[in-house]
Amino acid sequence: MEMSYPNEVLLHIDGQWKPAAAGKTLPIINPVNESVLGQLAHAETADLDEALAAASKGFATWSRTSAFERYKLMRKAAEIVRERAETITRIMTMEQGKPLAEARMETLAAADLIDWFAEEGRRTYGRVIPARTGGVSQIEVKEPVGPVAAFTPWNFPLNQVVRKLSAALATGCSIIVKAPEETPGSPAELIRAFVDAGAPAGVINLVYGVPAEISSYLIPHPVIKKISFTGSTAVGKQLAGLAGQHMKRVTMELGGHSPVIVMPDADIQRSAKLIAASKYRNAGQVCVSPTRFLVDKGVYDEFVETFTAVAKSVKVGDGLAEGTTMGPLVSERRIEAVGALVQDAVQSGAELLAGGKRIGNSGYFFEPTVLSKVPTTSRIMDEEPFGPVALMVPVGGLDEALEEANRLNYGLAAYAFTSSAENAARISGGIRSGMVSINHLGLALPEVPFGGVNDSGYGTEGGADALEPYLNTKFVTHLQVG
Ligand code: NAD
Repeated sequence: MEMSYPNEVLLHIDGQWKPAAAGKTLPIINPVNESVLGQLAHAETADLDEALAAASKGFATWSRTSAFERYKLMRKAAEIVRERAETITRIMTMEQGKPLAEARMETLAAADLIDWFAEEGRRTYGRVIPARTGGVSQIEVKEPVGPVAAFTPWNFPLNQVVRKLSAALATGCSIIVKAPEETPGSPAELIRAFVDAGAPAGVINLVYGVPAEISSYLIPHPVIKKISFTGSTAVGKQLAGLAGQHMKRVTMELGGHSPVIVMPDADIQRSAKLIAASKYRNAGQVCVSPTRFLVDKGVYDEFVETFTAVAKSVKVGDGLAEGTTMGPLVSERRIEAVGALVQDAVQSGAELLAGGKRIGNSGYFFEPTVLSKVPTTSRIMDEEPFGPVALMVPVGGLDEALEEANRLNYGLAAYAFTSSAENAARISGGIRSGMVSINHLGLALPEVPFGGVNDSGYGTEGGADALEPYLNTKFVTHLQVG
């Protein structure tokens, strides 16, 4: 089935697909060969003003639509995503680089997320609070917070949008999505599914442009009542600061530097193979990517050897090609950033066991990389590599592993492998992290929490608590008279 990339990706404002008012466009680059896939409409202030007016109007309509009607529309959108899964999958692979199998999984997972949020939206219960005085009723109700501005990155073009979009729609909020300029086509298809399912004009608006220009315009704007951002910690801190100045509600899903603790009582072969496959998923461009492997000295050699064999067997290539298990990085910028971190690690004494450099000079391919005995003085032990690089560090027991795991101020995901219930309890209790996965890869399902602590941000984008950030609590007390 040969399907090509759309020639142009448009804005969606007030129910219309449209080019930018001033006609400005940006090229969309194929990370496999740096060719131009298509053109992207580039919003400026006039477009943002239109989107804000539309979101305001959309909120008036959508917040008065019943939870049941919202649920029905969302379920219909999920079905449309499933029907169009192959088209969306191919667009995502072409613009982002990930293999088709990964893009397909992300697309189908997006449909499941919409379903889950749709259902959960019907359960935004309030409560009746017993009064101290006869004739008084005390009621707590949940109301949608208002129009949302959501900023999403390129690593999971659909998944990062769908969590914010679904939480907003399920609670009765309208939304302006600033989707990623690097990978705009697949999120546009996601939004098309909602539009085609019958979302009223203004409820969902989609823009692209210069991220800093859009965020600095939307965040302080009085129409916008809630901000949700996924991206780097540095940018997250800037945006949270701006939101704070304007007293806007915020959810921040930021970077991570996930530790993986491997105890000698673990099944080493199984653990090494499982976690190595996870490391190279999406070329390591994953906020919960396993990164610092803190391996007990007694099993270090066996673990590292098995892991490195998997790294060397990864088939790097065009995500559209049969058999590819890792595609290119998303951009030239990422190649430079990852290359510089690897070079610095080697210079500071790390041993390079696999990979370490760019592949060729056309397209953004980088070798699956394993660094061993990486000194904590190297930059890569502090800075998120966000690429296909595994850092192996031998440790002398669980205390040392926990100390290193908690050394950084990141706290998104952590992994551990052990067959001891006691070790598992010490790890889950002792690690400072929003999510801990022991002996398997169990994160990111719709019904479980997803979020971090400290420099990794705050708020959850999954599970029953994910709707709360989109809701205001209103208290109504009423003394019946007459
Ligand atoms: P970057 O910091 O330039 O951009 C990261 C994301 O933030 C992009 O989607 C970008 O469009 C957006 N962004 C940047 N400045 C913004 C602003 N002022 N307002 C609104 N949005 C803004 O870096 P990059 O090279 O694109 O990505 C590299 C780093 O970003 C990684 O090291 C990683 O830490 C982080 N990142 C994290 C995630 C995640 O899932 N948490 C996803 C993508 C990137």
